[in-house]
Amino acid sequence: MKLSKFGEKFTRQAGILSLMDDLGHALASGSEDLIMMGGGNPGHIPEVQNIIRQRLQDLLADPDKLHHLVGVYGPPQGDWDFIAALAQLLQRQCGWDIGPENIGLTNGSQAAFFLLFNMFAGPCTDGSQRQIQLPLASEYIGYTDAGLSDNFFTAARPDIEFIDAHTFKYRVNFDAVHITEQTGALCVSRPTNPTGNVLTDDEVNQLAALARQHDIPLILDNAYGMPFPGMVFTEATPLYDENTIVCMSLSKLGLPAARTGIVIARPEIIKALAGINAIVNLTTGSFGSALALELVRSGEILRLSREVIAPFYRRRAERATAWAHEYLEGCDYYVHKAEGAMFLWLWFKDLPITNLELYERLKQRGVIVVSGHYFFPGIEEEWAHRHECIRVTYAQDEDEVNRGMQIIGTEVKKAYGI
Ligand code: PLP
Repeated sequence: MKLSKFGEKFTRQAGILSLMDDLGHALASGSEDLIMMGGGNPGHIPEVQNIIRQRLQDLLADPDKLHHLVGVYGPPQGDWDFIAALAQLLQRQCGWDIGPENIGLTNGSQAAFFLLFNMFAGPCTDGSQRQIQLPLASEYIGYTDAGLSDNFFTAARPDIEFIDAHTFKYRVNFDAVHITEQTGALCVSRPTNPTGNVLTDDEVNQLAALARQHDIPLILDNAYGMPFPGMVFTEATPLYDENTIVCMSLSKLGLPAARTGIVIARPEIIKALAGINAIVNLTTGSFGSALALELVRSGEILRLSREVIAPFYRRRAERATAWAHEYLEGCDYYVHKAEGAMFLWLWFKDLPITNLELYERLKQRGVIVVSGHYFFPGIEEEWAHRHECIRVTYAQDEDEVNRGMQIIGTEVKKAYGI
C-alpha cells in the first residue's frame, strides 16, 4: 500500500498503540491469570458505578432526554447545557473568570491534545517549524506520536530530589527550560502520568509566567486533577488564566468509554478548536455530557471526587507503595513520591537489563506493566535513566496489585543477580 507522509507516520509502531493493544488483548483473551498493571483504566468504585447506572436509567425513562442522547447532532463545541453548567461550577468552585464561551468538548482529552498540539506546533506559514515544549520529562506516553510532523517535541530533564533512601521526586529544572522562537506552547500533566508527581503551585505559577512572557500558551493536562476527578493527595491549587489552556476529562472519574474531554481556554481558542472539531468529527459525542450533566449542575461531582474518588486512590497508592518497599528490599530502587493519579513510577538504578527487557520478562510471568522508555517524548540524547524506570498502575484489584508487585520484586532481583 502506498501511503502519504501522514499515513506512514501514523502507522509506525507507536508506544500508545502497544499499550492500548496490551490492554485490549488482555481484556479480550479474558485470561484470569494476567495481572493488568499496564493501562490507565480507572478503578471499579461501586458508589460511582451506582450513580452512573441511576443516571442512565433516568435518561432512558425520559423520551426527550433519550432522543437528545442518541438522536441528534450537538454543536461542534459540545453539548451546550453541560458547558453552561460546567462554567458555573468552575466559576463557583475555583473562582475562574469564565463563561460557556471558554469551554469546548472533544471526544476524549486525547483528541483535544492532538488538535491543540497541531494548532500551535508544526510547520507555520512564516516558514518556521514550531515545537511543543515539555518542561518536565518524563511525560505522558499519549503525547509522543500526536504531532503531524516529526521533531514535534522538546523536553527538559528534571532535577531529581531524593526524599529518603528509596523515594524521589522530579522537580522542574527551570535552567533547562529553553523557550525560543520555535516554541509553540508549553505542556505539562498535573498530576503527571507516568510518575504520579504533582507540580507545586510555585512550579505551575512560574511556568505560567514564562509562557506569558513569551506569548505562548501553557497547556495544563488536568486529566487526574482538581477539582474533578480530584486524584491528588497533596495540596494543589487549580490554575486557569487567559494564557492557559486547561484540559480535563470524564475518563478517570469512571467514564473512559464515554470519550469526553473538556478544554477551558480563551474564546478565540475554543472557537478555533470547535471549528477543527467540526471538520474532523462534525461534533463531539454527547453521551458523557448527558451522563454527567446533573452531577455537574448539583455540584455532586465535587463531593464524589473529594469523598469517594480521592480516598479510593490515596489508599491504593499507600498500599502499592508499601508493597513496592516490601518486595524490592535489597535492590537499588526508588519509588517516585505518589502524589496523585493512579501510577507508581519505579526506578531501578543501574539495572543490568533495559526496562523493555524487564517488561518482556514480566509479561512472560503474566504481569503487564509499561516500560518507562516510552515516556520521554522530546528527549533525544542518551540518558540511562530512561531505560531504568517502569510504570505500574495500582487502580485495579488490590490482591492482584499485591501479587503483581511480588512478581516485579522477584524479577527485578533476578535481573540484579540478587
Ligand atoms: N492525559 C493524561 C495524562 C492521561 O493519562 C490520559 C489517559 O490516560 C489522557 C490525557 C487521555 O484521556 P482521555 O482521552 O480518556 O480523556
